Amino acid sequence: MSANNLRELLIEELKDIYDAEHRITKALPKMAEAADSEELASAFRKHLKQTEEHVRRLEQVFETLDEKAARKECKAMVGLLAEGKELMDEDDPNVKDAALIAAAQKVEHYEMASYGCVRTWAELLGEDEARGLLQTTLDEEGATDKKLTEIAGSLNIEAIEDEDEEMARVKSPSRKSSGR
Ligand code: FE
Ligand code: FE
Repeated sequence: MSANNLRELLIEELKDIYDAEHRITKALPKMAEAADSEELASAFRKHLKQTEEHVRRLEQVFETLDEKAARKECKAMVGLLAEGKELMDEDDPNVKDAALIAAAQKVEHYEMASYGCVRTWAELLGEDEARGLLQTTLDEEGATDKKLTEIAGSLNIEAIEDEDEEMARVKSPSRKSSGR
């Protein structure tokens, strides 16, 4: 990184997150495909639409700063997405969904950290229009993170219930399914 002042640092970081958002638009359709829960798949599809908007919003930010929109490889996102891909191999659908949510939330938290910083720097630099645009995206990332926490809560319960049933069946093999 070759930033000599806060403005240059802001531009560098914007290029990083611009690259990250592009990578996320490629990953989300695969994550929606891999999700077992329809609620989770639809949350991923919804966030894909938002992420496409985040890319456009960043282009607006570059424009308000009189800078050309450019990508600089976000090594962190390359790593987060590679790790997430490994998790998609889980066999149990509930476990796989839980793993997909973990991967997605790590991505969201990285984005929230980045957007929080660039939003604050834009504010310090008196770049109000950029600040507003970045805050809007930050809010959407935060809402997505909350939604994923909600879905994770319901999924984990289902996974535990399935396990309990399995245990009960092992303990008393004659037990009939009681229509539950
Ligand atoms: Fe985003
Ligand atoms: Fe996101």
